[in-house]
Amino acid sequence: MEYEAVIGLETHVQLKTKSKMWCGCANAFGAPANTNVCPVCLGMPGVLPVANAEALRLTVLTGFLLNCEIPRFAKFDRKNYFYPDSAKNYQVTQYDKPSTREGFLDFEFNGGISRVRITRAHLEEDVGKNNHFDRHSGVDFNRAGVPLLEIVSEPDLFSADQAHAYLNALTELLVRGGISDCDMEKGMVRCDVNVSVRPKGTTTLGAKIEIKNMNSFSGVRRALDYEIPRQIEAVKKGEKLRQETRRWDDLAGITETMRSKEDAHDYRYLPDPDLLPFTPSEDWIASIRAVVPELPLARKQRLIRDFNLPPGDAEVLKANDELGNFFEKAADGFRNPKAIANWVINGLSAQLAATGTTLADLRFPPGHLRELVELVESGKISTRIAQEVFTDLFTTGEAPAAIVERKGLAQVSDTGAIEKICDEVIAANPGPAADFRAGKVAALNFLKGQVMKLSKGKANPAVAGETLERKLQG
Ligand code: ADP
Ligand code: ZN
Ligand code: MG
Repeated sequence: MEYEAVIGLETHVQLKTKSKMWCGCANAFGAPANTNVCPVCLGMPGVLPVANAEALRLTVLTGFLLNCEIPRFAKFDRKNYFYPDSAKNYQVTQYDKPSTREGFLDFEFNGGISRVRITRAHLEEDVGKNNHFDRHSGVDFNRAGVPLLEIVSEPDLFSADQAHAYLNALTELLVRGGISDCDMEKGMVRCDVNVSVRPKGTTTLGAKIEIKNMNSFSGVRRALDYEIPRQIEAVKKGEKLRQETRRWDDLAGITETMRSKEDAHDYRYLPDPDLLPFTPSEDWIASIRAVVPELPLARKQRLIRDFNLPPGDAEVLKANDELGNFFEKAADGFRNPKAIANWVINGLSAQLAATGTTLADLRFPPGHLRELVELVESGKISTRIAQEVFTDLFTTGEAPAAIVERKGLAQVSDTGAIEKICDEVIAANPGPAADFRAGKVAALNFLKGQVMKLSKGKANPAVAGETLERKLQG
């Protein structure tokens, strides 16, 4: 019998807010331990939390990005547990009434579009971090109270690679939306993986195994690459898998049992009595809906459809929001957007990289790039001269037509001038001229090259070729 894996992910991302969820402490990475703390995030008795409005806004915005329903009633609950990373002995989260629910995320995978349903994206607070030293352990509470979104997917993923693609698409979207910087190295994204196996063609879910402790997306993929065959082998041997939580050991490259369902925690969730239910107004929700940015995949599809770009170009422009915006402004209404895309993707990106600058430093507006392409298309300058003009445009910001004028770079299509150069070239290269006359067609390219060189690249190559041919045959 053939088996397939079924995967659902629970992804936690830190929200990009200035301050923490319930207090004014900085939401910042890398500060000395326990310097961004106060009585509220340390869980002192008698203090009261005040909700961070920006965190609420980012939560609802995420809901829109993930095509979710935004309930008009949500609430905060205490998840009770006893562990040193929480001074309060509970974590505030949203249990049965989350702020967003029932959405989906479309992303590219294996040459097609995959859709993963999103169960919910709910708001919760981060907890402290236990640090272990040689002779003692400590808790750093800088992270305690930092706003987190937990994004729960339905079990709609079927392979390690697909789960990996989903995570990339999800974080790309969150970065694009300004929800989170999703910097893995700073612990801004954490992901628990749930995986089961079942006979191919059946629909009943197998026993859910949750894997924890992956600290990169490639770790998620490797954990699944280990765990899926392990489960399939076990069921093939007739073993009955039971629901459990396993820990990924990155060094050993294996998962091992952490806790089984029997000792699963009972968190005794209860509504937080210090926090009012969250009942957003229609106006406020509408103001957020009004600023939902276009999703990366939607943009790629639009660039292909509206600008007739090849998928490879659209992918590059989708991956870099600013570059995509620049391209669209330059190509808007232009008959040959592909030519502009070439300049943006090759010329412009290369210059930015070479000079260590960004589009924000750019000296010229998008319209100048279109002007450059127009100069080439109308035959005013050659593509080779266009490179030179572009370098000038990049450093000075001067309009391309003005650069061409000032430096006398206009292509020479004037036959009189080209004839003169052709005569000189033929006289100076009797060998190749004779070769061409004897039927060696390639010799013409050499002579044409000489004409271009002598004209400093300004001769119209087509006119130069025709003129040479006419003179040599005549
Ligand atoms: P719990 O209540 O134990 O947290 P949930 O039903 O909320 O479990 O699911 C948590 C995550 O596990 C979700 O991402 C969900 O898609 C996934 N999941 C649930 N059941 C399975 C299963 N049998 N196999 C794979 N993933 C599953
Ligand atoms: Zn604080
Ligand atoms: Mg759950």
